[in-house]
Amino acid sequence: MRIPPRQLISLPIWPLDATALSSGSLPLAPLPTDSAATGELVDRFGRRHDNLRISVTDRCNLRCTYCMPEDVVFQDRSALLTFEEITTFVRVAVRHGITKVRLTGGEPLMRRDLPILVQMLTAIPELTDIGLTTNGVLLDRWAEPLFQAGLRRLNVSLDTLDPARFRQRTRREERDRVLTGLQAARQAGFPQIKVNAVAIRGETEQDIVPLARFCRAQGFALRFIEYMPIGAEPWEREKVLSASEILAMLSRDIAPLVPLGDRADHAPADRFAYADGIGEVGMIASVTHPFCTHCNRLRLTAEGKLRNCLFALDEIDIKPYLRRASPDIAAMSTALVHSTRTKWAGHTFNTTEFVKPTRTMHAIGG
Ligand code: SAM
Ligand code: SF4
Repeated sequence: MRIPPRQLISLPIWPLDATALSSGSLPLAPLPTDSAATGELVDRFGRRHDNLRISVTDRCNLRCTYCMPEDVVFQDRSALLTFEEITTFVRVAVRHGITKVRLTGGEPLMRRDLPILVQMLTAIPELTDIGLTTNGVLLDRWAEPLFQAGLRRLNVSLDTLDPARFRQRTRREERDRVLTGLQAARQAGFPQIKVNAVAIRGETEQDIVPLARFCRAQGFALRFIEYMPIGAEPWEREKVLSASEILAMLSRDIAPLVPLGDRADHAPADRFAYADGIGEVGMIASVTHPFCTHCNRLRLTAEGKLRNCLFALDEIDIKPYLRRASPDIAAMSTALVHSTRTKWAGHTFNTTEFVKPTRTMHAIGG
């Protein structure tokens, strides 16, 4: 049975652990209508924010070297926002013009029964776009329930097809499960699956063409992401393998690339089509061609901290507004407006002023 994306069903469609829902009730009670400010989230630079990235956990079953340390200490599970708390915050955010959310982490599929959250979000009519970014290790188990719950946009991170380099990069042996997970996602019916690869000089060069060939053959849209200074390891600009270098390699070894020129104002990727008509590739040139001037994103960490930039040094704690007998809608509204208004022009990691956030990527939500 296929479930229409916007229709909330009353019964779970997969074996459900009752502890997954702390209140056990779907859907949530209506929010008060008169207790909060509304209005779009426009910052001092005129950027309208309609996109919220939500981390659902800081835990992960991989340990990518560019993202997190091996010996990381995770948040206590009780510190994480519940699905109801996340949904309540999103329902406040949609009053301010948020229409797109992306679930991420850590590894979001480490959060038990994630399809329940997807169902809860698909029941919010103002949300037009719900996506998930995953490392794919658990997709073989969860692709079908996620699709059934209404998820349609799926990004799977895969930096290399080579088993040894996968092990080196992720410090785990899960390459085969990621490949199985990608097939499971396709079989579940996801219309377009994106594969994301972080590009690091001295490591990624040998993976670019094999990844591109694989994605062309499988019908996945490939995105390369320039390596950013947000992980546990020391970052140097010299380690950034630039989008233009990658494009040159692909044009030389596969087929000429034609800019699609259709980059939506807020989309971080520049898209290119292969001249032979088979597939496309995107470049997220966060370092050499930052998209900060068009950034439309806010972020919510797994334990409820609102951030206005991946590289923000300040954050607002939303959890106290959620963990009371009656959620403080007005305070959450004010936090959203304040966070947006205090957003800076852009990250500074191309300058000497750059200060690295104390959180690494896995604890923010990429
Ligand atoms: N665990 C999931 C995954 O890997 O897709 C979701 C969270 S992960 C933090 C989200 C994305 O951030 C992944 O595509 C990952 O490759 C990317 N990422 C992590 N650290 C990065 C870095 N230092 N520079 C660029 N991208 C990074
Ligand atoms: Fe985990 Fe994703 Fe970070 Fe890799 S990039 S360690 S999969 S959170």
